[in-house]
Amino acid sequence: HNHIDNATPEKVQAAIAADDTHAHIPDYETYDAYVAEGGYAKLTELREGGDWEAVQDDVLSSGLRGLGGAGFPSGKKWGFVRMNEGPRYLAVNGDEGEPGTFKDRYYLERTPHVFLEGMLIAAWAVEAETCFIYMRDEYPAVLKILATEIAALEAAGIVEPGYIDLRRGAGAYICGEESAMIESIEGKKGLPRHRPPFVAQVGVFNRPTLVHNVETLYWVSKICREGPQILNSVEKNGRKGLRSYSVSGRVANPGVFLLPAGSTILDVIDAAGGMADGHAFKAYQPGGPSSGLLPSSIDDVPLDFDTLQPLGTFIGSAAVVVLSDQDTARDAALNMLRFFEDESCGQCTPCRAGCEKAVKLMQADKWDQDLLEDLCQVMGDASICGLGQAAPNPIRLVMKHFADEI
Ligand code: SF4
Repeated sequence: HNHIDNATPEKVQAAIAADDTHAHIPDYETYDAYVAEGGYAKLTELREGGDWEAVQDDVLSSGLRGLGGAGFPSGKKWGFVRMNEGPRYLAVNGDEGEPGTFKDRYYLERTPHVFLEGMLIAAWAVEAETCFIYMRDEYPAVLKILATEIAALEAAGIVEPGYIDLRRGAGAYICGEESAMIESIEGKKGLPRHRPPFVAQVGVFNRPTLVHNVETLYWVSKICREGPQILNSVEKNGRKGLRSYSVSGRVANPGVFLLPAGSTILDVIDAAGGMADGHAFKAYQPGGPSSGLLPSSIDDVPLDFDTLQPLGTFIGSAAVVVLSDQDTARDAALNMLRFFEDESCGQCTPCRAGCEKAVKLMQADKWDQDLLEDLCQVMGDASICGLGQAAPNPIRLVMKHFADEI
């Protein structure tokens, strides 16, 4: 990538748009095509006299929850941010670093303006002065699409030049944690902050900040244009709404599948064309490595927020990785802990030293389960952020469900 002196949002955007290093840009819906389908009419209508609380009601009644992994009700965040005096900011988390997650990329490489309109509607709702988009640098095509289409929005007068500030991440998993992302946007090392205060009160440059994931804003746009029933009218196994599952591993057709939120792992595998040839279903990661592994015997639980909690795991960003009889759960868990060891930001001891120690213990032929459980307890209780708090999940779930391997 080009080095940019005295970078301003405009210079960064122009440099990314002009960067031909990665020539393959997928076909996607451009600004003109989106507008031809009625795009941005809703935003204009709202800006010209819409009631933000009516929009918030729609978002709340749709049941939309934060799709970056935390699952916080999206509409509620707007109220928290507005409670604090301006100037306010909006920051989009496009880091998508949870291994196995690629749904944000999927939507951005196809319909970037659905997301952009949702972002501008949310920015309107909280009267944000600037929108920061923190985008994963490993998605060069997405960066280029966004830079090009933001320039189109500026040219069309939908936004002032510089109103959308496109930022590139630098490959750190921890910068997907919202407070670390904010530190990174401010130009500092991405170290998670202690909370409180919450980012809705003290966010980017100490201002109240609305943080949303890319896909969440994609749905804000859809809800505003089509109504809350696009989510709340879908019901399956007692759950409402839709989930975009990123499915990979030993399935026939890996990809992103939009399914009812009440789907089970069997429904998800079915959507991905079944198991790959010669593989028998053995285990699955329901939502990124932080969610650990479940055995194939647990196959009737809806893969949704809250439903997996009693099982010691969670759906997170819905990154489903399917393992087969040709994999071992212990190797998969070790791989996950090695990842956490690499990506720990190192600012707190239980996580920094704990991940390293766990990797050593998990390399033994026979796991010292008492010591590992002790370590898991300390990491879960005393780590500052979700990385260290959730890192024990793969260890505990392997001890519980795959004892014969360890
Ligand atoms: Fe950093 Fe890990 Fe502590 Fe999070 S838990 S702040 S990643 S050292």
